Amino acid sequence: EVQECETCTLPCQVERPCKHACPKRCHPGQCDPCAQPVESACHCKRTQLNFLCSELATIASGAPYEQKRRLSCGKVCHKQLPNCPHACARTCHAGVCPEEESCEELENVRCPCKRRKEKWACKQIQGALLARDGKRSYTAATILRLLECDTQCGKAASSSLKPSEQTAAAKNETADNAKVGETSAAEYTTLEDSTSRSKLSKADKQREREERRLARLAAQEEADAKKAMKARLQLAKKVLAVLLLIIGGLGCGLILFRVAAPGDL
Ligand SMILES: [Zn+2]
Ligand SMILES: [Zn+2]
Ligand SMILES: [Zn+2]
Ligand SMILES: [Zn+2]
Ligand SMILES: [Zn+2]
Ligand SMILES: [Zn+2]
Ligand SMILES: [Zn+2]
Repeated sequence: EVQECETCTLPCQVERPCKHACPKRCHPGQCDPCAQPVESACHCKRTQLNFLCSELATIASGAPYEQKRRLSCGKVCHKQLPNCPHACARTCHAGVCPEEESCEELENVRCPCKRRKEKWACKQIQGALLARDGKRSYTAATILRLLECDTQCGKAASSSLKPSEQTAAAKNETADNAKVGETSAAEYTTLEDSTSRSKLSKADKQREREERRLARLAAQEEADAKKAMKARLQLAKKVLAVLLLIIGGLGCGLILFRVAAPGDL
């Protein structure tokens, strides 16, 4: 209870539960709820929400359900999940992100030779990794070879690859190996055509670089071949010129010989 006193013209001196002073001049009775605008980060911390000071105090001391609701920005949480390359897909929420085993994002999984390909939900991939390797976590650089090779795989590998396909396969292999070296992710491997854009661009860049390098090498080889051809042509010309010179010289000699000693022939 605030003690009643004579009203004066000074600003209200009553201390309030928050750090803001009462904006009124000396007044009888209790102060109004604090109307200072304040900001508070939402659960996901990506948005600053606006409240009145007293409103925020009420929320903070209120029911947990109300706190959860009022402090959500209403947008997608988007926090990086700890065990997979994906972001939390839930609406801005209180507490830690839901267990990663509930992640529904789709990823390509392949067999060791990469012929077979299937789309699995992330939670399924994590379950398979956990069963196989004892840990569920994987990154965008991990090649998910979780399918078994079948009989078709052996056939495809041994026979019918055209030379062009073989080079392409070799190229992919190089890119993959480079990636594995980079991340030192043991025996898993990356999908070169994953659905996620960031991963796709990483794999694509790697392949693009490799392709550019090969193109450069090819161009270099072609230039070298042209140079060698030119040199050979020039040599041939020189040899021809010398031959003509010799023939010409012999012819002249013969004529001179005949002119000098016609009787002898
Ligand atoms: Zn007063
Ligand atoms: Zn206040
Ligand atoms: Zn006051
Ligand atoms: Zn938020
Ligand atoms: Zn995931
Ligand atoms: Zn989340
Ligand atoms: Zn296979």
